[in-house]
Amino acid sequence: MILLLAVVTACTPAGPQAAGVQATVNGDGSIPENESISLDDGEHAAIANLDPALLAAMRKAAADARLAGVELRVTSGWRSAEHQQRLLDEAVELYRSEEEARRWVHPPDRSAHVTGKAIDIGPTNADDWLIQHGADYGLCQAYANEMWHFELLTTPGGQCPQPRSTAG
Ligand SMILES: [Zn+2]
Repeated sequence: MILLLAVVTACTPAGPQAAGVQATVNGDGSIPENESISLDDGEHAAIANLDPALLAAMRKAAADARLAGVELRVTSGWRSAEHQQRLLDEAVELYRSEEEARRWVHPPDRSAHVTGKAIDIGPTNADDWLIQHGADYGLCQAYANEMWHFELLTTPGGQCPQPRSTAG
């Protein structure tokens, strides 16, 4: 009986199967709340589908931040349109107001996350570092009410535009 179990286990293609499960779970780019992933996690749809220029700038910034003892973690990156819509639906439920929800979550056709041109970074000390140093890499805080949401909005060493007053 034990021998049989061992044989069954050995015959299970754990590698490819595990990867398949991961792709299904994260195929929409979702990252569970209160969790984060690394910029090096290129297999995750949230990272893999980012604008390559944004990802390259982010990785450069992360390397320099690490030297300063700060780790930049990704709390959200690319999102499928379905995932973005789900976030908006959840926000409408939470705020019980479509208008208030849209202050925080754009509909899919307006979200820079859906086009892979936005990334959310944490924790707070990482946001502080990036707000201070991001322009060196072309990275800017896009919205005044979201200290974690960054986009490529200037050229490296340039000046970031004033953060917009409403939602990402
Ligand atoms: Zn965002």
